[in-house]
Amino acid sequence: MLAYRHAFHAGNHADVLKHLVLTRVLRYMGEKDKPYTLIDTHAGAGGYSVEGRYAQKNAEYGTGVSRLFDAKGLPEPLADYMSLVRAFNPDGQLRQYPGSPAIANMLMRETDRLRAYELHSTDHRILVSYLEGRANTQVSDRDGFTAIKAELPSPTRRAALLMDPSYEIKTDYAKVLAALREALERAADTVVMIWYPQLQLLESSQLAQRLKGSADATAKKGWLHVRLTVAEPADRPDGKGLGMLGSGMFIANPPFTLHDELAECLPLLVEKLGQYDGANFVLEQKAA
Ligand code: SAM
Repeated sequence: MLAYRHAFHAGNHADVLKHLVLTRVLRYMGEKDKPYTLIDTHAGAGGYSVEGRYAQKNAEYGTGVSRLFDAKGLPEPLADYMSLVRAFNPDGQLRQYPGSPAIANMLMRETDRLRAYELHSTDHRILVSYLEGRANTQVSDRDGFTAIKAELPSPTRRAALLMDPSYEIKTDYAKVLAALREALERAADTVVMIWYPQLQLLESSQLAQRLKGSADATAKKGWLHVRLTVAEPADRPDGKGLGMLGSGMFIANPPFTLHDELAECLPLLVEKLGQYDGANFVLEQKAA
């Protein structure tokens, strides 16, 4: 039985970073006429109410997406992501937050294939009903890590993979590393996006380095790593490494445009989402 429910965290700073990256990747994939496949290995429920009991518990969206919702003059990539959030809230108030399948649903064409995996039975059921009727779509309640073997190489050849586990179980760190390796072995030009939490835990602090080492040898078009730190370690004295200081995204085979797009947005994200003076970002890439 999984305890994690993304509804508690929807729209927080980590979702902002993750969904900004996802938006840029899908926009880029959509520029070519040829269809592509998106495999979302840990898809969640699809969309979330920020007015609901879960999201209200810690109101994480309050230090995340709501700090951008009414902002003017955003850099174009952030404005584009926020236009999707606004499209999800047609009455102009922030009431709902789109999860990765909703963002995908807004950006993907009918001919593009969506494969979404969600293990939690309730979230799986909500996701099935959310995506019902969408062409070229399958929603599975199987373990998302099995998607690599089942879905790659994809019939469309062009493929993107979003791996967004909750890291509730420490073995997720080793699993994403193995999954990256396997995905690139099966299709070396897959755009692999991996989200990770920035925690005071060895597994978390070593993950980016390990992913880089793996992608160095296998990713046809190099990699990009972005991390946004918003909170001060001393602010999280739980001693268990549970408090999230920020989060990161590792992207193998990123669009060549992604680095500059993120460079344009990150200073503003630090300013808007930072919770202390030392808030900062890391942006690094290795070209092929
Ligand atoms: N990707 C979603 C988004 O951006 O809106 C959020 C996903 S949330 C961080 C992680 C999800 O993975 C949870 O809904 C959890 O139930 C699900 N999950 C956990 N382990 C899984 C597994 N092995 N396979 C598929 N889903 C899993």
